[in-house]
Amino acid sequence: MKAPPALATDPEPVISLHDAPALAALAREHRTDPQHLAKLTRRVLQHGDDFCAALTSLKTPLPAPLVARLTPGALILVKRRDSARDGATKLLFQTRAGERIESVLLRARSGRTTLCLSIQSGCAFGCSFCASGASGLRARLTLDEVLAQVIHGRQIAASEGLNLRNLVFMGMGEPLAEEALLHDCLERLTTATLFGFSPRRVCVSTVGLPEEMVRLAQRFPSVRQALSLHSAVANERAALIPVAREHSLDDLRRAALEVTRLAGGRILIEYLLLAGRTDRPEDERALYAWLDGLSAHLNLIPYNPIWRIADHTPTPHSAALAFARRCRARGIPTTLRRSLGTDISAACGALTP
Ligand code: SAH
Repeated sequence: MKAPPALATDPEPVISLHDAPALAALAREHRTDPQHLAKLTRRVLQHGDDFCAALTSLKTPLPAPLVARLTPGALILVKRRDSARDGATKLLFQTRAGERIESVLLRARSGRTTLCLSIQSGCAFGCSFCASGASGLRARLTLDEVLAQVIHGRQIAASEGLNLRNLVFMGMGEPLAEEALLHDCLERLTTATLFGFSPRRVCVSTVGLPEEMVRLAQRFPSVRQALSLHSAVANERAALIPVAREHSLDDLRRAALEVTRLAGGRILIEYLLLAGRTDRPEDERALYAWLDGLSAHLNLIPYNPIWRIADHTPTPHSAALAFARRCRARGIPTTLRRSLGTDISAACGALTP
């Protein structure tokens, strides 16, 4: 069957501000200096200016039919919650298809501002301690939808005089299960003329998919990688993280070594402290053995209890501090993560579709 002929009234496809080839073609089509368009792109993607404000502030206005083809972003911000306790803001977005995703803006006292992004709505991996996976994978996102979170985040930060410089793929979803999408995102995020993030300030956290980790480091060696290890005891890890049954701790370690070789630097190892599950002396010994010879930074994560799936108990704070001290004493660079946004359900593992 032949496709129906295009009607004169069919809308022309909309073009995103981060789609450089399409923008170049659009500028040619409208006989516009691509530099004028580049100014708009820079203001929105890099400086966090509001699309309309950026448009009206251009010294040389862009032709209206050209502007009509542009889309400033693919998400609607439906709700915003600011923590009364710390500098966290949870942003709840809706996609055009009606799916919900969340991002979290984290303002550290040092002035460092970070956006925690979602790559999927929900998550297919079903880790026993995480709310995002409790109802499975709800929807996959488009490139525009992932990047729209950054556009909004930069705009909110800019409106407060803050510069959003750090991104972490630690929101909902598993970034390495969306390899092509993730690589496209990283490409645009780290292109100097587009979002212009330094790859060193972008971190991708994974449940632990060895082949994808290596491919990520091959293509983006400077992008930081974080591995959710959480236990170096095979049975325990498999009980917490179902996919661990498919990838052995040895395979993960080999992948982590290769990542550090390609990156010429450390890999971040995330380790969740669960009372009686990951904080026993034998867990600690297994962790030391697994980390031995690996250039790693250990990030101990206090468990954030999720009431709907609660079956775990956090390690008491004093024991967590002692755990961290012992790791440091063994020469492992270690930090104990300070959870932000616990009062607005924005802390690690609390995001839900
Ligand atoms: N899919 C990615 C990103 C997940 S969220 C991954 O698995 O790494 C980022 C981090 O928060 C992961 O290390 C994840 O294991 C951790 N996390 C999940 N639920 C948590 C909870 N309830 N308390 C503390 N950390 C949690």
